[in-house]
Amino acid sequence: MLRPLPGAMAIDDLPTLSQDELLRYGRHLILSEVGVEGQRRLKAARVLLVGAGGLGSPVALYLAAAGVGTLGLVDFDVVDATNLQRQILYGVRDVGRPKLDAASDRIADINPHVVLERFDTQLTSQNALEIVRAFDLVVDGSDNFPTRYLVNDACVLTERPNVYGSIFRFEGQASVFAAPGGPCYRCLFREPPPPGLVPSCAEAGVLGILPGLVGTIQATETVKLILGLGTPLIGRLLLIDTLRLAFRMLKVPRDPECPACGTHELSELIDYEEFCGLRSSSANGGGAATLPEITPREVVAKRARREDFDLIDVREPYEYEIARIPGSRLIPLASLAEAIPSLDRAREIVVFCKMGGRSAHAVKTLQAAGFTRAVNLAGGILRWSDDVDPSVQKY
Ligand SMILES: [Zn+2]
Repeated sequence: MLRPLPGAMAIDDLPTLSQDELLRYGRHLILSEVGVEGQRRLKAARVLLVGAGGLGSPVALYLAAAGVGTLGLVDFDVVDATNLQRQILYGVRDVGRPKLDAASDRIADINPHVVLERFDTQLTSQNALEIVRAFDLVVDGSDNFPTRYLVNDACVLTERPNVYGSIFRFEGQASVFAAPGGPCYRCLFREPPPPGLVPSCAEAGVLGILPGLVGTIQATETVKLILGLGTPLIGRLLLIDTLRLAFRMLKVPRDPECPACGTHELSELIDYEEFCGLRSSSANGGGAATLPEITPREVVAKRARREDFDLIDVREPYEYEIARIPGSRLIPLASLAEAIPSLDRAREIVVFCKMGGRSAHAVKTLQAAGFTRAVNLAGGILRWSDDVDPSVQKY
């Protein structure tokens, strides 16, 4: 059974506000659209945040400040220095701490009336339904496609609205999926993009302020849904372009053929890594589109066998300054095409980048230019650091 959103709960079932809370929420209480009743609905609300990163930070901060009674936080990461450019829940003193510990302290400091429920785990097909079911609605602050589809499907199956946001370089998106009568994420994106086509923030970069913009919109939609106020972003996709400072709204119709919310053929959660093509290539040889790959350990073995090969780094010069693999040659992806005449088609070429996305593009470019012995270093320099040489700085 669908638990009614606090906006639909009977007044008698709502928690009351203490003297301290009445004082704290004064600016809400004088809004006639919120008032004491609305503030009690916020206090009754249980909101799950998937991810306490760039998007989760502003969402958690604002929902806590607004008086959402219970926040669930799913994250198993540790704060690192590269997070501080955009993940405003954390400060320098939190580097090295589990994000949930740091977030608990920060949220308690903002509003001690908020109850934080911690899920120090990855959201998976095994645990998602149970976790999601315990909340009224879900805010998707994830940064990858498998989790995005998982969150969507779990929300459709449990009938919880999915307040969606995503960010890429200078552009963001927001919508509300899986709300009654509205479309879901799969109605808009039936299939995930081919693996490697859309680089992650770690690979492509992101303007640090952008998750602030998108997350604040997610927090706004969450509060509106809880209060039953205004017109939510249901059936609409907001596109934000920070460079032009342009906001565009696309209509997203419900797809009657959608396997999740249309035909309901998707009656349980699936293997989302496999669905997004992120597992399989090494396990079963993959399809025709699979790129040849090599692991860092295999590269070391090649060197030990004194095999002849080129090791090409397609990252940017600033990344090369941070960390490099000895014996590699830097050819940033953008200048690969002009460097092709300098490469030997007869030799094996191992290409790497930070995590494997850009180098996959590079391998395709080389293949198209007639190189038959180009291979991608799986996991890039980060995996090199994990598997082969921890002295190579991770970033
Ligand atoms: Zn759908």
